[in-house]
Amino acid sequence: MHPHDQTIFALSSGRLPSAIAIVRLSGSHAGSALRLLAGRLPVPRTATRALLRDGGGEAIDDAVVLWFPGPASATGEDVAELHVHGSRAVIAAVFSVLSTMPQMRPAEPGEFTRRAFENGKIDLTEAEGLDDLIHADTDRQRRQALRQLKGLLGDKARSWREQIIEAAALIEAGIDFADEGDVPTELMAPALARIEQLLTEIETVLSAQGRAERLRDGLTVVIAGPPNAGKSTLMNQLARREVAIVSPHAGTTRDVIEIQLDLQGYPVTVIDTAGIRETDDPVEQEGVRRARDRAAQADLVLWLSQDDQAEAERRTGVPVWLIRNKIDLPAAQERVVASVQSAERGFAISARTGAGLSELLEALVGFAGDFFGSTENGLITRERQRTLLEETAAALRQSIADVDLGEELAAEELRIAALALGRLLGRVDIEDVLDVIFREFCIGK
Ligand code: GDP
Repeated sequence: MHPHDQTIFALSSGRLPSAIAIVRLSGSHAGSALRLLAGRLPVPRTATRALLRDGGGEAIDDAVVLWFPGPASATGEDVAELHVHGSRAVIAAVFSVLSTMPQMRPAEPGEFTRRAFENGKIDLTEAEGLDDLIHADTDRQRRQALRQLKGLLGDKARSWREQIIEAAALIEAGIDFADEGDVPTELMAPALARIEQLLTEIETVLSAQGRAERLRDGLTVVIAGPPNAGKSTLMNQLARREVAIVSPHAGTTRDVIEIQLDLQGYPVTVIDTAGIRETDDPVEQEGVRRARDRAAQADLVLWLSQDDQAEAERRTGVPVWLIRNKIDLPAAQERVVASVQSAERGFAISARTGAGLSELLEALVGFAGDFFGSTENGLITRERQRTLLEETAAALRQSIADVDLGEELAAEELRIAALALGRLLGRVDIEDVLDVIFREFCIGK
């Protein structure tokens, strides 16, 4: 049986136990499964209360069920949703009934979205947006994912691709005419103008970005400095503040190695290098390994020191801010903040009392803003998308350059550009070029 002939099911809601759990089914047997469990098919797209029963007629749960006959459904196939009470026993009983049906199997990760994509419900950029929306931690991440999900990049890419294919068709029609000794210039000029305009548009999208695609991973800030500078104290101070959203890798009972901050919607991961140390605990080792890997890719280093003359260890290309700590100590207060040659910026804080911390956090928000750029208009959210758009732009540039060398070369580059956009959308179909040519230039043939 082809995997797509099978109907898939999965728990689509969160971890059990929960007040309500949602089991979703997709495929041609979703209807018969629903009939088996609920005794009947409810009115499409209407929440309906139903007593679910197992094969022996014994009641499983009092549920609300929904029926979305394809193709007007999320996946394009027949879809059913069972809203049941979120206990492990209820889910186990429902799954056990579903598993008795031979055409039914548990879904692979992402398989509902994959089917939606394969049935033409969404393009690849929208699928990526859906994935990002589910994983969004901060408000900015959510907004960016939603824009992607709405298909803004996909719509643009589709329109660019159509125009490129049309331009290629114009040029190729020109080539045909040239065989008959006719002038292709009337066809070439508008095609060329259109390519140049497209190139400008794509270049604008490429350059209008900061690093919006990094918004998914967030900004990585490393706290470094000599022993006893107060790195762990600063970490704990940050973790205690409301901005901390998770602390996934608590290294030891004493120290936090890594915390994730939501700084006005910017996701920022702060890593404490003091927490990175040798340990025998395998769980801790994994946390330490991850923190070390991430620290190596820092976007910003906060060099903590008690001494204003401190020389921060420089890493190539990574900005360093010098943070003078322990300003609550009288000895420190009397000193004048020396100009710091080795750092881009200097701050004075007390990790113990929290003095100066708001200024530091404010500066971090500013840094994040510059780093990510204007994500509000950002269309590119992934490296994959950027690479393919860059390929498209390069091919368009080459196409323009090739026009004088021969229309065939120019047309070939346009095909490469259209292919890159097709890959961006997840639809590569060179037949499109032929379709347009035949549809629009069927000149007496
Ligand atoms: P680390 O080795 O860089 O992680 O440094 P710790 O955070 O463990 O701090 C070393 C010592 O300095 C501890 O005794 C802290 O309580 C103390 N300390 C840290 N920050 C401050 C501060 O702002 N003011 C004062 N007075 N003591 C601090």
